[in-house]
Formats: sequence, structure tokens, C-alpha cells
Amino acid sequence: MGGHTALKRALLLLLILVLLAAAANVPFALQFIESKQAAWQPTTNLRGAAAAQRGWPSPPPLPWPPVEAWSQQRTFGHDRIDARAIEGNTSTHSMDFDLYGWPLPALEQRQLWWPWDDPKWATSVPSDPGVSLHWSGVLLNPLIIGGGLWVVLVVPLATARSIRRASRLRRRCCPECGYPARVGDACSECGRPLPPGLRTDPAPPA
Ligand SMILES: [Zn+2]
Repeated sequence: MGGHTALKRALLLLLILVLLAAAANVPFALQFIESKQAAWQPTTNLRGAAAAQRGWPSPPPLPWPPVEAWSQQRTFGHDRIDARAIEGNTSTHSMDFDLYGWPLPALEQRQLWWPWDDPKWATSVPSDPGVSLHWSGVLLNPLIIGGGLWVVLVVPLATARSIRRASRLRRRCCPECGYPARVGDACSECGRPLPPGLRTDPAPPA
């Protein structure tokens, strides 16, 4: 009886934590957009074949030339990729791809540059479509954060509860309310059934 209530409460708490995490997810990811203005200090810089192998971080609107320079900067909540096709010394096509959010990206943003005047590369795809939702993070972050918080909160509470119950049983007290077990099948204080070990049959009439 008491166990069911505790389980219901624990599941309600899980639901509340997941919903709170869902409400905070996208606003939290938005915070990291400001970090785009911070210094660009890529931690990975690839050129030539290694860069071509990484390719464009998001499918280009047309079959663009192979990537010649590929850089990445990863900071907390922000993953930024800069990819460029280079001809001679100038980049002809380039793409900035940003993922924002934590632990998984919940927002994405891409910006494209191509030879605007060359009809060969003309496309109806916008070069700067703005920020959009990145669904894996939108859906999974609340489960990861809400579920993680739930484990951190509920496991110690459940452990404390079972330790308290065990110690009450050892003292021959009702595990639910702690009142000393008297004669009978139920606790004389809270009325809940006693576990078999604490049940005593009434003495037979003399
Ligand atoms: Zn009781």
C-alpha cells in the first residue's frame, strides 16, 4: 500500500523533472548563440584530403566543390564547424555550421557563401536561413537531464526509506509509522497490515 504511493510519487516527480528540463532546454541552448561572437579558436584544423573526407557539415544546395579547409571549435554547449572550398588562395564556397545546446545540441544554424554573381551556383536556398530546431536534442535532452536529476534525487530517498524500514522491523515496530507492533495482523496505530514476521496471534482465551 505504502509502496504504491511511493512509486506513484516517484513517477510524478520524474514527469515533473522531465517537463521542467523540456521547458529549459531551448532557452538554455539560445544562451550559447552569444558564444559565437567569442574568439574563433578552432581546436581542429584539417586541410586537403583530410578536409575533403569530412566534407560539408550539412548538405549544400548544389553539388559544391570538395572541401579544402575544415575547422572545428568545440566548447561547452557550442559546436562550430567552418568548411571551405578553395581555389588558388581564395575560398569560393564556404559553410558555417553551428550546433547549440547541452548535453545534445537542440538548435542548429548554418550560413552559406558562394560566388553570388555566378549563375552556375544560383539557388533558391537561402544563404542565411537562421536558427532552427535540432530534433534529437530537443527530444532527448529533457530525458537525459530530467532522468539524471531524478536518479540523483530518488535513489538516495529510496535508500534512506528502505534503511528506515529495516531498522523499524528489527525493533519490531510497524515499518510504515514506527509504532511498536502489538498483537494482531495490523498496526494498532496506523492500521496498515504488518509484515508476517511481526504478526502475533491473540493469546487463546484461558
Ligand atoms: Zn503503523
